[in-house]
Amino acid sequence: MVGSGPNGLAAAITLAERGLSVLVREANDTIGGGTRSAELTLPGYVHDLCSAVHPLGAASPFFRTLALEEHGLEWIFPAAEVVHPLDDGTAIVVERSIEATAAGLGGDAGAYRKLIGLFAADWPKLEREVLGPLIHVPRHPIALARFGVTALLPAEVLARLAFRGESARALLAGGAAHSMLPLGRAASASFGLVLLVLAHAVGWPVPRGGAQRIADALASHLRSLGGEIETGAPVESLRELSARAIVCDVTPRELTRLAGAQLPRAYRERLERYRYGPGVFKVDYALSGPIPWTAPACARSACVHLGGTLDEIAASESGPWVGRVPERPFVILAQPSLFDSSRAPESKHTAWAYCHVPNGSDCDMTERIEAQIERFAPGFRSHVVARKAQAPADLEASNRNHVGGDINGGAQDLAQLAFRPTPRRVPYSTPVPGLFLCSSSTPPGGGVHGLCGHRAARAALRAVF
Ligand SMILES: Cc1cc2nc3c(=O)[nH]c(=O)nc-3n(C[C@H](O)[C@H](O)[C@H](O)COP(=O)(O)OP(=O)(O)OC[C@H]3O[C@@H](n4cnc5c(N)ncnc54)[C@H](O)[C@@H]3O)c2cc1C
Repeated sequence: MVGSGPNGLAAAITLAERGLSVLVREANDTIGGGTRSAELTLPGYVHDLCSAVHPLGAASPFFRTLALEEHGLEWIFPAAEVVHPLDDGTAIVVERSIEATAAGLGGDAGAYRKLIGLFAADWPKLEREVLGPLIHVPRHPIALARFGVTALLPAEVLARLAFRGESARALLAGGAAHSMLPLGRAASASFGLVLLVLAHAVGWPVPRGGAQRIADALASHLRSLGGEIETGAPVESLRELSARAIVCDVTPRELTRLAGAQLPRAYRERLERYRYGPGVFKVDYALSGPIPWTAPACARSACVHLGGTLDEIAASESGPWVGRVPERPFVILAQPSLFDSSRAPESKHTAWAYCHVPNGSDCDMTERIEAQIERFAPGFRSHVVARKAQAPADLEASNRNHVGGDINGGAQDLAQLAFRPTPRRVPYSTPVPGLFLCSSSTPPGGGVHGLCGHRAARAALRAVF
């Protein structure tokens, strides 16, 4: 295994479960890739370097098989799943209950119940259809067709068709913006739908102690199966490795670097054409107290979407795609310490906030991110004890997979959702016998769920062992 992100560890576990001898080599000094935590600002303040809120982790059918709680993982479920404040001082709250959520949406209550309630009820059928390769023979064709027709729409179109009020439209837009696609793009609705459905089906939990606990639990499980992990051990060429199968938790750019001339030219050229999406600018905060939200409901969730209306969010998300830095960025904010006192000294707090910027942008977004937080939490800045800002280049320096700050392992537009990373019957395989790709640059894409890794390892087991 090259790389110890959640997908690398998931692949390693899947192989070790079959009794194979597995070695994971990780470039960084700590394991976890996008699921690491560290004292980034001040002693005693534990920050999530990347992922913080984990609907996909809770929903992962693979993680469910692992009994990760026996290896130290404890999910904490905040009172609400996600909150979206508006300028009038109110907030839209996504509760675990569809009824309770719909009740907060006024005239759109029925439409929300119908749209999201239908797919939440179908989730047990949709789970394996949606969290895998887009192109496949479905087990539940009717449920998938019903979902697909809606999910393939641009989020902007679905929001306007399904809802009449600004609140419900803004809510869907906030979820869809996780795609990092312009909201006028086909399939951007799918991200909003899946995240809202997961809020009701499984919740949006945070791990006690930080995202690192997910990686630590996966690593503990792997070691219990006999697997080994070496940290501070970057692989610079596949020629360094001798194994029956090599499974790489890397993006296509790194794979072409590692494999060099071993890759057939046509395949290498296809990998070189693989596109990366916008980058992320992230700020971590050590705070003297909880964020002073105008709408008290914002304190009920670990995740807050800051960006106002559908129109505003759509304007913010279209910029980075065409190289434009948004003036009023849509900001995703995580505040896990409200629900997990282990993250900060007594009565103190941690939070991170990030926005999307053009890939590789070196624009400092700290002011603009804080202006958005202040808009919904006046006085926020006076609570900041320390902050650490990271531009796309900083994120890439701490993880080679974040090419230009892209946190999803490549753009997630329709073409690259369907053929990720290139058109192949088994997308995890390569033309080189025994060489596989398992990162979020393969289906189903970004997020902490381990499913790319699990499926890649299964492909390796079928092909090699
Ligand atoms: C700021 C930020 C916020 C996020 N928030 C969330 C969230 O709240 N919820 C969520 O579900 N997801 C979130 N994500 C996305 C999530 O972290 C990723 O989708 C996920 O970690 C991808 O897993 P992976 O295993 O494919 O790759 P990664 O986690 O990126 O791991 C890849 C690993 O491979 C290693 N590696 C690469 N090349 C080599 C090499 N040549 N030799 C050795 N090792 C190598 C890297 O060092 C790294 O450890 C966030 C990401 C970021 C950056």
